Formats: sequence, structure tokens, C-alpha cells
Amino acid sequence: MIVHVLLGAPGCGKGTQAKRLVEKRSLIHLSTGDILRDAVSKGTEVGLRAKALMASGKLVDDDTVNGLVFARLQDETGDVLFDGYPRTLQQAEALGNFLSLQGIRLGFVIDIFVPEHALENRVVNRRVCSNNSCGAIYHLTSKPPKQDGVCDLCGSPLKHRADDTSEAFQARMVEFNKTFQPLQAFYKGMPLYRSVDGLRAPDEIHTTILELFQEQA
Ligand code: ADP
Repeated sequence: MIVHVLLGAPGCGKGTQAKRLVEKRSLIHLSTGDILRDAVSKGTEVGLRAKALMASGKLVDDDTVNGLVFARLQDETGDVLFDGYPRTLQQAEALGNFLSLQGIRLGFVIDIFVPEHALENRVVNRRVCSNNSCGAIYHLTSKPPKQDGVCDLCGSPLKHRADDTSEAFQARMVEFNKTFQPLQAFYKGMPLYRSVDGLRAPDEIHTTILELFQEQA
């Protein structure tokens, strides 16, 4: 098993790129945002704790997230792509220890860079498919659905995430700016750390990421 990581700010395109990459490379997509939203919608103990934090743009505590992730990793056998995890230095260190104990290799760490001024528009205008097994991502102007409020792929209603408001976005950026620099510094020295320009079109970014994987094959 190999574990790959996608890093980057809210709205940088981690989710969009993860969806494309897992199809091409047969990876298991583990999004801690999705896992937590699922816990919230099921009303589990973790979900009850996470709900208000997430809606206000705060991070869920490291031990809770690490626990969820390690439990999932123990169930998986294929290669994994993390999206939204690790998000703090503590999570990165805990993951590193877990991987060494289990003899699992860290693969690519792909850091998708988008300058802060471009992020809010992406997040506030993002709409996502409410059917979790589809989870298609739209943008009201740059990638609108064919029919208002309806997913092109599966026909389910689209939703506006509770934390995709302007106010929650600002709070998410505060958290991001507090946690990202040490996290990035931790990974920058790793052999398969790569920074990619996230301001380009999604297709171009996807091609760049695929090329990285192909070069390494
Ligand atoms: P984005 O990357 O666009 O911020 P996510 O779906 O990854 O969106 O995360 C949504 C929210 O879920 C975060 O703002 C945070 O509250 C919570 N969350 C997701 N991943 C983590 C994590 N690794 N650690 C702590 N909280 C997390």
C-alpha cells in the first residue's frame, strides 16, 4: 500500500483533482471532509462534535481526525489518496508514525497552489451533488450544471455546503493560514513533494499530476 497526499487551501481544487486522479490510477479517495460530513449527517458521536466546528470553518481536533483516518487505513488494502488530510503538523507527524509502524510507504505529496485572492469566489460559488456516492463539483459561473440545481451526472439535487459561505470561508482561511506553513515545511523535504500551479484549468492540472505519476512508474 502507498499513501499519497493532496495539500492546499480551501477551494484550491483538491476535491476536483482527487476525483479525476482516483479514476485514472485506481486509488482509494479518502477525504476527511467527506468522512466528517457523513458522520454529521448520520448524527454519530463524532458528527455531533464536528457539526458546529465545521459549519463555522474551524478544524476538528487532531485526535478525532487521526482516529477516523487510521481506522479507515486499517480497512483498506489498495493505494490511497488523501484529500484534506493531514491538515496540521500534528496530523502529519501522527500519520508519519502510523505509516512507519504499519510499514506503509508515503508516495506523492502534491501541493496545489492558488493565491488567496482567487479562492473565495471558487468556494462561495461552489455547488456539490447531494448524492455522496456521486459528489460531483460545480461552480455557478465557470462550471454550471446544465439544469439549475441538478447534477448533470446523476440527477440529484445540488447543495451549497454550510461552510461555503463568505463568512465561513474567511474563518477557514484563518485556520489555513495558522496551520499550513509548518505542514508544508514538514513535507517540502520529502522526495516526492511536488508543488503544482492550481490557477490553471482543471484539465491542465490533472494532466500535470498524471504526468508526475507516470514519470515515477
Ligand atoms: P476544504 O478543503 O475545501 O476546506 P474539506 O471538505 O476538506 O474542505 O473540509 C471541510 C471541513 O471539515 C474543514 O473546514 C474542517 O472543519 C473539517 N476537516 C476536514 N479535514 C480535516 C482535518 N484533516 N482536520 C481537521 N478538520 C478537518
